[in-house]
Amino acid sequence: RVILEVQGLRAVVADTRQEILNGVDLVIREGEVHAIMGKNGSGKSTLSKVLVGHPDYEVTGGTAIFKGENLFDKEPEERSHCGLFLSFQSPVEIPGVSNMDFLRMACNARRNARGLEELGPLEFYGFVAEKLTALNMDPRFLDRNVNEGFSGGEKKRNEILQLSVLEADMAILDEIDSGLDIDALRDVANAVVGLKKDNNAILMITHYQRLLDYIMPTYVHIMEAGRIVKTGDMSLAAQLEAGGYNAVQAMKM
Ligand code: ADP
Ligand code: MG
Ligand code: MG
Repeated sequence: RVILEVQGLRAVVADTRQEILNGVDLVIREGEVHAIMGKNGSGKSTLSKVLVGHPDYEVTGGTAIFKGENLFDKEPEERSHCGLFLSFQSPVEIPGVSNMDFLRMACNARRNARGLEELGPLEFYGFVAEKLTALNMDPRFLDRNVNEGFSGGEKKRNEILQLSVLEADMAILDEIDSGLDIDALRDVANAVVGLKKDNNAILMITHYQRLLDYIMPTYVHIMEAGRIVKTGDMSLAAQLEAGGYNAVQAMKM
């Protein structure tokens, strides 16, 4: 089953009307992991932000159907209630709010939207404890304030914990590997693998083959000047690593 179908998506920066996306086509089905690679400034982050409804951008053409419904008819909050989540390139700190409370709030908002009963503190603890174990994370994480004083690797892991608690239907991970050392990268990659299910999908943006080697995406796309110009499998990432974008571009002809 198709989870997300994007056709001819065009978007501009709301203030300046500068066009950033100029005809993105992308179909993502349940159980698939898609990777988007591409030079800096090719529009990867803009694509993810436009999909979740970031107010800096305005859609000027094309469609995006998420789980059978028009994404652009929905407010950003409704999109997340429907199960679409973006993990940010630089996660925010929320001083004074414990990770546990934050996660329970987010989890219950999503449960409300799905017509499920809210989880009380104790039930939630049981629920999240399981997720922590699955992600190989320290329970002490929950007592700390959201992202406050977290190392780069901890922040990224915390993002994955959030996605796992929210039971996202589609998670978009924008450079989840940026700034990680080799061990942290492996842990985060394994955590992402732990998120994969038959009935959800992951869209990840990355510059590096290393992350893809762990996660083994179904498809690798290359984005250039606001559109997807090439789609392949893991071998495309290997070609990029070996020859850079120019080599892959030459092959396109
Ligand atoms: P990538 O994630 O592939 O590096 P981005 O989507 O962040 O690329 O940016 C694509 C292009 O759009 C860049 O030239 C960037 O400067 C421009 N851009 C993105 N967002 C904005 C914005 N809010 N205001 C002005 N320019 C923007
Ligand atoms: Mg960038
Ligand atoms: Mg980016």
